[in-house]
Amino acid sequence: MTSAPRNYDIAELRRLDVAHHLPAQQDYKLIEDMGGSRIVTHADGCYIHDGDGNRILDGMAGLWCVTIGYGRDELADVAAEQMRELPFYNTFFKTVTPPAVMLATKISSLTNDRLPHVFFNASGSEANDTVFRMVRHYWKTKGEPERTVFISRHNAYHGSTVAGVSLGGMKSMHEQGNLPIPGIEHVRQPYWFNEGRDMDPDAFGIACAEAIEDKILEIGADKVAAFIGEPIQGAGGVIIPPKTYWPEVERICRKYGILLVCDEVICGFGRTGNWWGHETVGVKPDMIAMAKGLSSGYLPISAVAVSKEIVDVLKTGGDFVHGFTYSGHPVAAAVALRNIEIIQREQLVERTRDDTGPYLAKALAGLADHPMVGEVRSAGLIGAVEIVADKATGARFGGAEGTAGPTVRDACIANGLMVRGIRDTIVMCPPLIITHQQIDDMIAIIRRSLDECSAELRAGEAPPHDDTTDRAIS
Ligand SMILES: *Cc1c(COP(=O)(O)O)cnc(C)c1O
Repeated sequence: MTSAPRNYDIAELRRLDVAHHLPAQQDYKLIEDMGGSRIVTHADGCYIHDGDGNRILDGMAGLWCVTIGYGRDELADVAAEQMRELPFYNTFFKTVTPPAVMLATKISSLTNDRLPHVFFNASGSEANDTVFRMVRHYWKTKGEPERTVFISRHNAYHGSTVAGVSLGGMKSMHEQGNLPIPGIEHVRQPYWFNEGRDMDPDAFGIACAEAIEDKILEIGADKVAAFIGEPIQGAGGVIIPPKTYWPEVERICRKYGILLVCDEVICGFGRTGNWWGHETVGVKPDMIAMAKGLSSGYLPISAVAVSKEIVDVLKTGGDFVHGFTYSGHPVAAAVALRNIEIIQREQLVERTRDDTGPYLAKALAGLADHPMVGEVRSAGLIGAVEIVADKATGARFGGAEGTAGPTVRDACIANGLMVRGIRDTIVMCPPLIITHQQIDDMIAIIRRSLDECSAELRAGEAPPHDDTTDRAIS
């Protein structure tokens, strides 16, 4: 479907958007000054369409989530069928629905039954809230109530609820609302290009992991409950740690008996070329949070998969008084289950690992000689381009962080490619159905946009972007 499905009055919708709708992670005044947001009307495959008639290659898979692409009638049919049969029932009343049980079983199988128990929620933030409450309840039940502290990283993203923001390491988010809540400590992130270029990457990876051990010793090992991290930081700027980092993190967690939690909300479901990001980085977590790719964004659903050891302890603790109205929502679960079946049927994980992932890496490498590119990096189908003013020193445009990403991002969108600009990084996370030709298009548009922005950035004329989303989160 490429023509607009309905005859919307776009100008009126934009007016009403300003009058009534508050968007996520935005400067409301900026949207008002723009005369309202871009109205996205429909989508197919890897393309979104807006009310002004633009067809835009979706290099972000929606918001890191539309893994199998847009326009899957199969998911619409599954949702309609399930809605007719049973649109809702809860899991509070010693009750459950067939799709919830089947999806839990499927998720368990995707961990090779290493994490056989699954708790459902509606969003990634809620999944991390569940992690937070479950981990603390686990330690209390186990007889170690002092173990309450979570260790996370600066510039991590774990969601927008109070616990999600607190677990996350986004400074701009902490500044609004006196966060983080107590009991959460942040350590340095393994961001080699920005913070470690004077070191060998492997040594830098070890040094970043050692910061966790230092923090554990500072707090007291018997007070630390868990370490949480995204295998690859997504919203922080697609930060791919040196290969030494995660195995050392795992070794440290095991040494002090601390739970290891991976936030797989972006990295899960094939994004990095394996089912899970933790496989790509080579660790075995005790718990994982997942969302986004779980349903390819077709409906809101998230999950936490948990080890047998943890659940065995929880079973000795009576009611775990936690859960949501929509935990295990049957329509969302049915859609997620079919989404996973489609990923399997179309071998999208294998394709990402063996074909499109390596192809993206090669295409990105072709950008590396560009005078404004400091580094390119990718894992599977998630990637980033670091924009620099000076290739030799890595200096940023305007002498400070943060101008180039949003500027080049705007040019990319105008040129027909949706990407995000996070500080001075262009990040991409296309649907896993993307073709070689579409990857070539994506890279060509980024190159052209860099060229177009070059003069403006060098003149320091780039307008200031008070765009919280792109400066800080996604
Ligand atoms: C998006 C995201 C979340 C939050 O998910 P929501 O569904 O927006 O609540 C948590 N963790 C990571 C790694 C994410 O990318």
